[in-house]
Amino acid sequence: MLELGLSQKNVKFQNRSKVLKVLRKQPGISRKDISDQIGLTKAAISSITSEMIDEKIIVETGNQETGVVGRKKVLLELNKDFGYVLGLTISETFITVLITNLLGETVESYIHEFSSGDCCDKDEVIDLIVEKALYLLWMNGIDKQSVLGIGISYIGELGNVDIDYIKVQMAKKLRLKVVLSNNVKALAMLQVDFSIKETSENFLFVKYGPGLGMAIVESGTIIEGVDNKAGEIGHTIVDADANTTCRCGRTGCLEALISEKGIVEDIEKLGPNYSYLIINKNLSIIDYKSVNELLEMKDPTITSIFEKRYDLFAKSLANSIILFNPEYICVYGLIFSQPEIFEMINTKVKGYLGFNTTAFIKLSDLDPTSDAIGVAALVLRELFYDVGGFKEV
Ligand SMILES: [Zn+2]
Repeated sequence: MLELGLSQKNVKFQNRSKVLKVLRKQPGISRKDISDQIGLTKAAISSITSEMIDEKIIVETGNQETGVVGRKKVLLELNKDFGYVLGLTISETFITVLITNLLGETVESYIHEFSSGDCCDKDEVIDLIVEKALYLLWMNGIDKQSVLGIGISYIGELGNVDIDYIKVQMAKKLRLKVVLSNNVKALAMLQVDFSIKETSENFLFVKYGPGLGMAIVESGTIIEGVDNKAGEIGHTIVDADANTTCRCGRTGCLEALISEKGIVEDIEKLGPNYSYLIINKNLSIIDYKSVNELLEMKDPTITSIFEKRYDLFAKSLANSIILFNPEYICVYGLIFSQPEIFEMINTKVKGYLGFNTTAFIKLSDLDPTSDAIGVAALVLRELFYDVGGFKEV
């Protein structure tokens, strides 16, 4: 009897999960259309949706004409304020704390930039994060009871920052479930789950800036590898003779050769005429709009810096397409929204691949300025959508 009970419960979780995932991407959909899409009977959908209406997870939003006189379809959508999650990104130079609703929309965010050397007292960092998280919740009138969990993502290798210690302490101090992830993988899941335009579940997700990372997405989930390091495109060795030492300790890594940190160093060497291109040296923030203008005007100095570096980048992207056979590479990062820069990379990739492949490069439609939202989306996936909206499973 117990086993039967458990399996019935599992089926219920799965069915609710399917309904929630349809509503996540298609707000304002009727019961009949949900039923058609996920292959459950209309009676089953009616039962699931009325249960979730009672729980206030979903709401009826209006009617749609059916074409039959006197009959209208009632439309449903998620109650996006039913629950919230906290997202936290930690890097060696800054932390971001934010709150999102069930649709992965940012309610409020806070960024703290470390002045050099003050990021490594882990207990101070934890206290700062807890204080800011509670403040953001209070500011927005959000009861902690409605927070499903907190996601922590880290950028690259963290050196002295002990992420596991931070995870344990955050769980203890905030009394919330914690989901930990590399930020590129978390953003890839945000792309799958919350991008209205995303239709594929088999692609490579490449994030550029300040480092370079890739997530391999297959059937909507991440291929992790033995040590969770699959997809580290930034640490593929592309020029062993290069005079670079990467943060991973190897020589000639792609990331060390094309990272924004390296570009900032290149621009600095050009002297005061080009110094306006560096917005924030510590965070490696470059004025890409101005870079794009200089590329458009064929400024030879800037063009040569980017041509050289992005040729290596394009070769690695083309090789990744050859290795993993994805539908496409989805690129994420502020730099790609500049048309000259995107086209420079895109043209080179196409040139290396030739005509016997259908894969291509496309720009992510996600906001490229907010990393922490990726891990918030991962929390929503693991603690809400995958478990059918039940808080305790
Ligand atoms: Zn490396």
